[in-house]
Amino acid sequence: MKILIIEDEVKTAKFLQKGLGEAGYVVDVAADGIEGLHLAMEVDVDLIILDVMLPALDGWEVLARLRQAGRQTLVLFLTARDAVHERVHGFELGADDYLVKPFAFSELLARVRSLFRRSAHRSEETIRMADLEIDPLRHRATRAGHKLDLTAKEFLLLTLLTRRAGEVLSRTLIAELVWDMNFNSDTNVVDVNVRRLRSKVDDPFPVKLIRTVRGAGYVLEAGE
Ligand code: CA
Repeated sequence: MKILIIEDEVKTAKFLQKGLGEAGYVVDVAADGIEGLHLAMEVDVDLIILDVMLPALDGWEVLARLRQAGRQTLVLFLTARDAVHERVHGFELGADDYLVKPFAFSELLARVRSLFRRSAHRSEETIRMADLEIDPLRHRATRAGHKLDLTAKEFLLLTLLTRRAGEVLSRTLIAELVWDMNFNSDTNVVDVNVRRLRSKVDDPFPVKLIRTVRGAGYVLEAGE
């Protein structure tokens, strides 16, 4: 597995390169957005760890151009704490995961492994789980062939739950990734929207996909 790190902070880049190398990954490093994008297009890379604030071309632009070129390479964004609200933007651009700086290497490694596990189950474009199909490029979701009429946020929420199927996602994490909300803010918006999402995705169908895990959050799983 080959990982490309696009990061201008030399210390962070070296730390990541060393740790990921020791974990058995082949690692390339680019120090600015142009060089990073060039490598991402020219070299066969499995995952890109992408900093947002970069010289020459920022991380958003790198991701946007990559996706415009039809590249579905996994992208994990590294964002500064004060850029939490921008993660929604990255998610809409097609990022696969986020990690907030500063982070523990153990967490980064867990995220990287989880991304690779998930991508093994994921087709290039359409995400499928049971009879649910999500087309991220066209912003279309269907269940058992019926088009689901979702708002933009409901679509993001469903995509997040489906991409991370089987993993219990906390309200806080969902609020951060989908709603531009900071840690410790009121996560009631998550419950309200999950309820609405269920009314469209689950209520009309005999098999329910979205499950509440008391005290922990929500998980999307294929039924028995
Ligand atoms: Ca930076």
